Amino acid sequence: MAILITGGTGYIGSHACLELIRAGRQVVALDNLSNSRRAALTRVEGMVGRSIPFHQVDIRDRAGLEGVFRAHEIDSVMHFAGLKAVGESVGQPLRYYDNNINGTLVLLEVMRAAGVRSMVFSSSATVYGDPKRVPVTEDFPLAATNPYGRSKLFIEDMLRDLVRAEPGWDIALLRYFNPTGADESGLIGEDPNGIPNNLVPYVAQVAVGKHDKVAVYGGDYPTRDGTGIRDYIHVTDLVIGHLRALEKLASHPGLVTYNLGTGRGYSVLEMLAAFARAVGRPIPHEIVARRPGDAAECWSDATKAKTELGWVAVRDLDVMCADVWRWQSRNPAGFA
Ligand code: NAD
Ligand code: UDP
Repeated sequence: MAILITGGTGYIGSHACLELIRAGRQVVALDNLSNSRRAALTRVEGMVGRSIPFHQVDIRDRAGLEGVFRAHEIDSVMHFAGLKAVGESVGQPLRYYDNNINGTLVLLEVMRAAGVRSMVFSSSATVYGDPKRVPVTEDFPLAATNPYGRSKLFIEDMLRDLVRAEPGWDIALLRYFNPTGADESGLIGEDPNGIPNNLVPYVAQVAVGKHDKVAVYGGDYPTRDGTGIRDYIHVTDLVIGHLRALEKLASHPGLVTYNLGTGRGYSVLEMLAAFARAVGRPIPHEIVARRPGDAAECWSDATKAKTELGWVAVRDLDVMCADVWRWQSRNPAGFA
């Protein structure tokens, strides 16, 4: 039996393929390659010494998906496929709703027809909106502040409704905080299209000389050094959390929800200092105005996943930065 990885050539999906195979699982990868390259999976294949079945299919393509479920014995799905750029979603809401919400709907219908009712879904801390306090626990009120966030929240609601209406579905909603890092080999990593919006890939591109300096968005937040605080989590820890969640569903059917974070926050300046240690020289930066919509602090209470899944993130900020730097310095052009 295999696990279908939607978004399997993407940043987190490719790391999931690697860790699942390392854990002795069979995987089938699917992606429409809208934000990734087949080369990511080729690297994973080289690392594990075997080929990985891959289908270039869009999750909105019902017939294409049905073909994938016919071609393999799939018993669960890790659903990473989706568009994820917050700013882009504000300008293109219908594209985001169609891709993320409609795509997930088609996927669920095809899964049901194929008798596959187990899914681990990539949700996000964005479903907490602008949290009133930190750390954030799973029972915080949910809200969305942009179309991307609304698509995640709607999919969560859709999945909650589905489990309530049709017993037999086993679904894990995993709310990621700030995924970063790369496999320690330096062979796979995050390869953003265009100029990155997220802090760490931007810092990495400054370090390889693609940009002059990092714009630090806001130095006047009510935080310990005035810059924004986030819960950065290593992608390898994150995907191991998915494996634990899948195991949990086997013994605890129904719907489960977990934060995947480290339970501690770092400021932008602390992140820049850690990256400088990894690179061996300072990262040029300048404090500029706040970015509209950014919260001062967002970090998880990761207790629930620890208690119920026996999972904790073990890779610290220095490991995250060292691994990103290994990937970025050895692959300055990404997978191109
Ligand atoms: P990514 O863009 O690297 O990977 C997503 C993959 O999905 C890409 O390879 C893309 O080509 C594919 N895809 C998109 N739409 C598709 C469609 N209609 N059909 C088939 N494939 C499609 O992004 P990622 O960082 O690996 O994120 C994976 C998931 O985790 C996403 O759902 C994202 O929203 C969620 N997430 C990511 C973060 C983060 O900071 N990276 C944080 C929280 C949640
Ligand atoms: N940030 C920054 N400069 C950048 C990108 C991000 O100062 O070029 C800050 C941002 O304000 C936030 C943190 O870095 O405090 C993480 O931002 P990112 O976009 O990576 O993730 P978010 O938590 O906003 O989804």
